[in-house]
Amino acid sequence: MPAHQSKSHEGSRSEYKDKDKPTQIRISNFIAAKAVADAIRTSLGPRGMDKMIQASNGDVTITNDGATILKEMQVLHPAAKMLVDLSKAQDIEAGDGTTSVVVLAGSMLDACSKLLEKGIHPTTISESFQGAAGKAVEILEGMVTPLELSDRDSLLKSASTSLNSKVVSQYSNILSPIAVDTVLNVIDPTTADNVDLKDIRIIKKLGGTVDDTELINGLVFTQKASSGGPTKIEKAKIALIQFCISPPKTDMENQVIVSDYSQMDRVLKEERNYILNIVKQVKKAGCNLLLIQKSILRDAVSDLALHFLAKMKIMVVKDIEREEVEFVSKTLNCRPIASLDHFTAENLGSAELAEEISTGIEKVVKITGIANQGKTISVLLRGSNKLVLEEADRSLHDALCVIRCLVKKRALIAGGGAPETELALRLMEYANTLSGMEQYCYRAFAGALEIIPFTLAENAGLNPIATVTELRNKHAQGERTAGINVRKGAITNILEENVVQPLLVSTSAISLAAETVRSILKIDDIVNCQK
Ligand code: ADP
Ligand code: MG
Repeated sequence: MPAHQSKSHEGSRSEYKDKDKPTQIRISNFIAAKAVADAIRTSLGPRGMDKMIQASNGDVTITNDGATILKEMQVLHPAAKMLVDLSKAQDIEAGDGTTSVVVLAGSMLDACSKLLEKGIHPTTISESFQGAAGKAVEILEGMVTPLELSDRDSLLKSASTSLNSKVVSQYSNILSPIAVDTVLNVIDPTTADNVDLKDIRIIKKLGGTVDDTELINGLVFTQKASSGGPTKIEKAKIALIQFCISPPKTDMENQVIVSDYSQMDRVLKEERNYILNIVKQVKKAGCNLLLIQKSILRDAVSDLALHFLAKMKIMVVKDIEREEVEFVSKTLNCRPIASLDHFTAENLGSAELAEEISTGIEKVVKITGIANQGKTISVLLRGSNKLVLEEADRSLHDALCVIRCLVKKRALIAGGGAPETELALRLMEYANTLSGMEQYCYRAFAGALEIIPFTLAENAGLNPIATVTELRNKHAQGERTAGINVRKGAITNILEENVVQPLLVSTSAISLAAETVRSILKIDDIVNCQK
């Protein structure tokens, strides 16, 4: 064979591409991502199961929240990580629906693999899914019940729906009003279009049960008042300080070498005077409650200073974390004082009452009746053990997010699989107006949405196929709010069960899930790079 011929032959061989590779990569991505979706599928809905998550350090978490489960899960495959991020994105966008979004994505991936098997090109599927998701959101928006923020009843129902599916669901009668009232307290219902959840401070304290949780229009500190001083102050004049009341730290360079007792006496006396001087100025400004930010360099307040403060009947709460300062200062409507020079009467906040109270096991300090209080609120959350307390905190956060969604977009839809079934039906109808591959993909997308009622039924111990077909029939006959009544184990008008949820949770779940599925679909290779 001539040399040049053999060369060209080799050349063509080096260009040869493995045509199967993109398909294999796609299949492996789908399998990895689906594994994540399947792992949390069983925790969807009020009859969903909980997960016990054990961290490598032995910490145990019990939760039903999709975002939390996925956050704690050790996921290695890059495509599976995309589903973890999807849940996170839903958590940020809506706060609830973090399980639904992943379950939906899993089902859409299933639909994709079937379409791919039929030989439809990934780009066609991707574009159709984008269109279908847009159409789905449009249809959902047409199904809503508008809501006024003055409609407390509906707000309560939505908070309860979100809490129903939690480990702490038996406390939803306590936590729902708290979620609603806290949010309404920090916004102006007529103008607000968002809620800053930073204005709601949840303080967790062990002891008692979730029943003992209370809403506090004021401030709560988990630490007790420094011992020796007063524990109850009426007509409090409050200062929030960021400087230390302790002798400056001597470091290696300017260490004082004390050689005899008289010198030592002098040093001690100087320290004493230094601290006394600060304490006197505090008293002079009329302050009787001192809140001290924690210092990273040294003790923010020395024992001697505490002794003097106690003698002058000044109550002290120390170790206030840096992150808390903003909230405390906003609530008290006074700025934190960074140096003694600014310690004057006009920089103090005032309140009717500051008092140390016992929660059974430990003590907390409560400040109420704050003059010109900023728009903030505190919740003292209680629980009998750490696992319950942590899950109650996460669940309350979800409920707060649900109310926030309703502030952002004042629209409600039914729950219990009703919106997904109706959506699937309408989308199928719409698909009939399309042609070719597009119609095929739209139908697959519509079918994928039915995973929500399917899973709700499965988790509630019902026959999923029978339930979903019955649900489909009812919706086809025009019963738009027929949903799965998990308590009765039947299909009823779900609005009568008070199962309602914000529109935003569902629309965001569908759009975000479709977006992630499209990105996974369009990957045809994984390239490892060395950093
Ligand atoms: P997510 O993390 O996605 O919010 P959940 O476990 O909270 O997952 O389950 C939410 C689903 O459960 C929604 O589809 C909602 O409509 C449904 N759901 C909640 N409460 C009920 C109920 N009482 N009856 C039927 N379905 C319900
Ligand atoms: Mg939920």
